Amino acid sequence: MDIPRIFNVAESAHRIHNPFTPEKLATLGAALRLEPGTRVLDLGSGSGEMLCTWARDHGIVGTGIDMSRLFTEQAKLRAEELGVADRVAFVHGDAAGHVAEEKVGVAACVGATWIGGGVAGTIRLLAASLDAGGIILVGEPYWLRGPPTADVAKGCLAGASSDFLLLPGLLASFGKLGYDVVEMVLADQDGWDRYEAAKWLTMRRWLDANPGDELASVVRAQLTAEPERYAAYTREYLGWGVFALMAR
Ligand code: SAH
Repeated sequence: MDIPRIFNVAESAHRIHNPFTPEKLATLGAALRLEPGTRVLDLGSGSGEMLCTWARDHGIVGTGIDMSRLFTEQAKLRAEELGVADRVAFVHGDAAGHVAEEKVGVAACVGATWIGGGVAGTIRLLAASLDAGGIILVGEPYWLRGPPTADVAKGCLAGASSDFLLLPGLLASFGKLGYDVVEMVLADQDGWDRYEAAKWLTMRRWLDANPGDELASVVRAQLTAEPERYAAYTREYLGWGVFALMAR
């Protein structure tokens, strides 16, 4: 079981697999006023940077589940590197339907809401693991301006413009699901550049090292097309943020 290999190739050097910088991740950790010992569940934990740095900086304990074998291995190495391997655990597997055995104070899905079949389904899934009074974290894109055309949506790699909302609409949607939005930290264009542009050097180095690989033509096509697509669409039209929610 694994995610499509192109992601493992293009994002092999990423510590954070979304438009957050290390500073934004730290800002979010501080904004949540985490108490030492707080249990955190992270569905789609990637290379584990959120759990590992929050364990180091705030003394949280946590579990991350991710379907990428590579990212999960990197998360375990990162935990060792930061000296928090006794506080955080990373499990390779499908997080769909995963409910924690012991309830948690923070249940997160940051940039992987397809795991619950969309934002609403992911919030329901996370809620099943949450202690009373706990916080749900959802990382999700939104349109910076709208309404975007079908071409813009496609350029942003969305299926349709209806895949995302404008920020006020996204915030209102959490209310309609019965949640207060109690915090949010939003990515910016520099963060998008770190996420997207970092893939290009990784892909270029991978291509130079693996010219005969069966994925080489796919990686070559992406490296050729991505800078222009990204600058024309994602960078201009798509916002991204992590939203902290508490049940009303
Ligand atoms: N939250 C992490 C990773 C976001 S990228 C971060 O912010 O860095 C999306 C992640 O979801 C990837 O790591 C991918 O491997 C993982 N993923 C995709 N489908 C999944 C599934 N069904 N179960 C668990 N993880 C999944």
